[in-house]
Amino acid sequence: MVSHVIAGLEPVSTVARRPRRAVDRDSQFFAEGLTRGLILIQRCGGCGRLRHPPQPICSHCRSFEWDTVEASGRGSIYTFAVHHAPPLPGFSIPFVIVLVELEEGVRMIGDLVGNSTDAALKIGAPVTAAIMADEGDNMLLVRWRLDGATA
Ligand SMILES: [Zn+2]
Repeated sequence: MVSHVIAGLEPVSTVARRPRRAVDRDSQFFAEGLTRGLILIQRCGGCGRLRHPPQPICSHCRSFEWDTVEASGRGSIYTFAVHHAPPLPGFSIPFVIVLVELEEGVRMIGDLVGNSTDAALKIGAPVTAAIMADEGDNMLLVRWRLDGATA
């Protein structure tokens, strides 16, 4: 980390941080759930369908009513991409982004953590969620680990 000190000013860190998640009144429950160690999914109060990412209205029945259910944190890789370039603030490259289909049926995007082999990284591979801070300790994220991966 490099800091610059200028008389009268606070040090400025040059450590890149990930862009912060936008939190509004429709998605605040998700961020608060993470602080309690929970992955919460919206459930429509009209038709009972689950949805993610958070939305103010159900796209099926148009109901504004909703509550939340706790996700198991288990799912499988629906698809993935390995990001090699360009460099992005707060990310060490290469990194793997996975779109996970949760047991509950909704899909959630996140990065893959832990040590595993390239052969283990495939569509349909089982994964488990880990609620972890990003490298800059900037915010809590839902990150994914292949079942059987270490670290
Ligand atoms: Zn609905």
